[in-house]
Amino acid sequence: MADRPHILIVEDERDLSDLLTYNLKRAGYSTSTASGGRTALETATRHAPDLILLDLLLPELPGTEAAARLRAEPATASIPIIMLTAKGEENDQVIGLRLGADDYITKPFSMRELLARIHAHLRRVASFETSEEEIFEDGALHVDRARFEVRLEGERVHLTKKEFDLLWLLIRNRGRVVTRDAILARLWDYDADVETRTVDVHIRSLRRKLGDERIETVVGLGYRYRDTQSP
Ligand code: CA
Repeated sequence: MADRPHILIVEDERDLSDLLTYNLKRAGYSTSTASGGRTALETATRHAPDLILLDLLLPELPGTEAAARLRAEPATASIPIIMLTAKGEENDQVIGLRLGADDYITKPFSMRELLARIHAHLRRVASFETSEEEIFEDGALHVDRARFEVRLEGERVHLTKKEFDLLWLLIRNRGRVVTRDAILARLWDYDADVETRTVDVHIRSLRRKLGDERIETVVGLGYRYRDTQSP
């Protein structure tokens, strides 16, 4: 993945949530947090994380129920979920896995063990994604992700790293709306002092370089890449 993988941490114990945030950032991930089951569903839909750490015992909505709902929503159905459980909750673990969690880890766990699991799940998804496409063609536009190269009518177009990552994120999700929040969460450190306007500025710059017709504004939501070849 060119951009930093984004992990949603759903945990109501503040200390553990902070500890996870700290360690995941240090390991190179971007993160967002939710402290309740309902908030988790909203955040997952808005940020489209690459992976979700989901505490089993949560206020608002239990982790098992949250997992089931995430699986039922097309927008979040394929996001890997690792459930965080405590000793003695084995029955719930089994239920959690049946309801759609991909894995679980029992508290107290070592950060190393957790990072290894996260890595394994992300790799599984990434190998699936990258085997799918590294080169994208749409009419006069040619994007080579491995070589970090963009051509329009055969002419090389120079993009900054952020512009390239943004373009690729839209291409990967083409036909679907990518919200400003999701873009910020993927390409910028969410806690950094970055405003949603920053996204708009980068979009403008991409349009200037690639033409207006490819990146569509969906008012109040975000942006969508539109294949110029599609009927
Ligand atoms: Ca809890």
